[in-house]
Amino acid sequence: MARRKTINKTGISRVEGIPYHDAWVAYKCVNCHEMNYVQVGQNLIKPSDAIETCVWKCDKCGFVHSKESDLPFENWEEEYNNADSTTALRFWEGFFRIATEHPESYWKQCNVCSRVLPFNAFSKHVGWGPLAKQMECRSCKGAINAVLNPKRSKEQLHESAVRRRIADLFLEDIDQNIDFKDLFDRFEHRCFKTKAPLDINKRDTWAIDHILPSKYLYPLTINNAALLSRGANENKRDKWPSKFYDNNELIDLARITGANLELISRKIPLMNHNIDVNKGVERYLQVREKSDLPKRIKEIKKILQVYELVENLSIENKKLLGFK
Ligand SMILES: [Zn+2]
Ligand SMILES: [Zn+2]
Repeated sequence: MARRKTINKTGISRVEGIPYHDAWVAYKCVNCHEMNYVQVGQNLIKPSDAIETCVWKCDKCGFVHSKESDLPFENWEEEYNNADSTTALRFWEGFFRIATEHPESYWKQCNVCSRVLPFNAFSKHVGWGPLAKQMECRSCKGAINAVLNPKRSKEQLHESAVRRRIADLFLEDIDQNIDFKDLFDRFEHRCFKTKAPLDINKRDTWAIDHILPSKYLYPLTINNAALLSRGANENKRDKWPSKFYDNNELIDLARITGANLELISRKIPLMNHNIDVNKGVERYLQVREKSDLPKRIKEIKKILQVYELVENLSIENKKLLGFK
């Protein structure tokens, strides 16, 4: 079968073989309470048909959901559970109606993260199957749009500026002055990444890489500084070292700088908790305008929570910020 070649500009790829027009129904097993998802294809089920035709077997416990089945409720009188009873019939009518009555009660599988999600997790797309929804969920759509349209919102820019400012305040006392001459000697006057020769007197052609980024609250120290060309440093930016340097480079880097090899080779970034959070908080709350204070409190609280630093606060500061 010929497949149309699509050019993937985003680096976020679709999962093959997911029929993106299909609708699903979801129901909770009446016996074991497991969520079940049934792919129903491109024709939605009429509730009046569902009660007549649907036979849904729970993936977990095997209970068969159909109007021919007895109900499993132990807290009901036995006669009410009996499939022949009016109570059971009314129950099953409601059960199948809930799952099928409106387009909104249907579910759909995302083509990117492959999760089966409720109708409203997808944005509208006229003509795309019975649900008229896009093929990727709104979470994935957001990620794709971020790649296609890298312009960040004003709010996001403000947020990252706040994060940077707070990180700087946390690190203010512990950042060391780096002796350029010494740095150049240790890196043999070359960019550590590209090996291009660098001239110490041309300050705009080279940069000092914060090996473990300040974003993760690591100060600039002699063990945490690498010499890079301006261009290489622009590529490195806030990346965790193992995302930028290969294994041999990481080993060399640890040897040259004394950086902790295990730490810099970690796959997942690790926040530095070994800092004086209280000082940073106190500095951040020093505002000239009284009206700025509530905003600052909100900002610093959020950062502390995201960074999991609340426990590092003194009792006074915890109280001051309203952490219990
Ligand atoms: Zn079940
Ligand atoms: Zn998704």
